[in-house]
Amino acid sequence: MTRFEQELKNNVFVSSFCTRCNKQVWPPSDMCNSCFGNIIWKPVTRIAKLIEFSRKGDEIFGIVEFENNIRVMGRIVTTSALHAGQMLNLIECDYDGKAKFVLAPIV
Ligand SMILES: [Zn+2]
Repeated sequence: MTRFEQELKNNVFVSSFCTRCNKQVWPPSDMCNSCFGNIIWKPVTRIAKLIEFSRKGDEIFGIVEFENNIRVMGRIVTTSALHAGQMLNLIECDYDGKAKFVLAPIV
């Protein structure tokens, strides 16, 4: 299991960050994808922008973007109407063979 996956299991969302390029390296990797230098693991801000979403039965899934850069697919828990561009809180992340993210609108 990678560091990224281990942290997710502890409900911590981290991303690889290259201090030489001063940028996020996404998807997470042990090596920078532009300069091939070492990376450090940094916590990601737990606030995301909703890019798009769709309903599947009772569940809502969406693509959300963290820090204007990191896009993931997540499940959105809400009883109110959603619209693209609104801000969501990451309330839970986990890893069980794949990364899982659960988000809810910021009230
Ligand atoms: Zn780099």
